[in-house]
Amino acid sequence: MARTWAMLGAVLALGSPLAAAAQAPPDVFARQTLAVTDRVHLIYKPAVTDPPFEGNVVVIEQSAGLVVVDAGGSPVSGRDVVDEIRKFSRKPVRWLIYTHYHGDHNLGAGAFRQAWPKLRIVSTAATRTNMTGPAMDYVRTYAKSYGDMAAFAATQARDEHLPQALRDGWARTAAAGPGMVAGYTDMSVYPADQTFTDRFSIPDHAAPVEVMFLGRGNTDGDAVVWAPKQRVVASGDLVVAPIPYAAHTYPGEWIATLKRLEGLDFAYLVPGHGPVETDRAYVDKVITALDNVRAQVGPLARADVLLDEVRKRIDLKPMRHDFAGDDPWLGFLFGAVFAGDLVSNAYKEARGETVIQGRG
Ligand SMILES: [Zn+2]
Repeated sequence: MARTWAMLGAVLALGSPLAAAAQAPPDVFARQTLAVTDRVHLIYKPAVTDPPFEGNVVVIEQSAGLVVVDAGGSPVSGRDVVDEIRKFSRKPVRWLIYTHYHGDHNLGAGAFRQAWPKLRIVSTAATRTNMTGPAMDYVRTYAKSYGDMAAFAATQARDEHLPQALRDGWARTAAAGPGMVAGYTDMSVYPADQTFTDRFSIPDHAAPVEVMFLGRGNTDGDAVVWAPKQRVVASGDLVVAPIPYAAHTYPGEWIATLKRLEGLDFAYLVPGHGPVETDRAYVDKVITALDNVRAQVGPLARADVLLDEVRKRIDLKPMRHDFAGDDPWLGFLFGAVFAGDLVSNAYKEARGETVIQGRG
């Protein structure tokens, strides 16, 4: 039945004047804009837990121009973000700040350069080092990786042994495949024009901006962007909701950095992915989870228990339920983007081994 339906669709598309349009993959990077305050906007991709995973973009309106935090994760995404900005402001983007080097936050920067040639890109020195070194090599094979992932997703979506909600998640991933492969083709990396190590200030009477390095956490060079008058902080992927992201993290330092982040007198916290937070509850939950994993993994790692054995001995089921509830797709993401990497990074940390950016 499904096969017949697909063939019928193909026949109709061939005979239809819409055939050309039907062949172009849909824009899976499309974004929407939310006003956080009168001078701060969030430009986000809805369906945050479905691929493509796209970093939030935050726009802070200063008197003479805009400060933008992150740029979208592909050339298409960057153009979508630029279009969204132009819907609510005619001011030029003067500063583009990268929270960190992961491509879902900066591979759209080419569209910014084209739209506002005078803009300056700023990041921590560590982020620039990562963006000009092997940590960024994966970009060359990104389209193929996502093509492979979509093909795998299609097989999972058909697996009748899996819970329906999980199959649905895989089906959404498979459906986004062609758009992701098209979007991740011919990408360029745009490293920062200038860097800082501790703090970078962009003064303005209406909306001053402080860009800060509060310590290692999600990567070795996360920038946090603070608008003190608006009381908005953009955390980058130090905070990702509803499931945290742990690929290249330093668990112990991450906790300390999150506590410094909580020390800011914010009314709104815009995470690297996910909705705006208005209190510290979610950050507290992440800190508790990191403490929990370190407490379970540390003693075993120091007793030379092998990593695979550690994974069997620890119990993350209550934590998984805390983050994912009974949703099998979120439960899958909990393991895939958080728990798996967090355990290996906590293991390395306990044994004094190094987490390498781009590899983990
Ligand atoms: Zn991200």
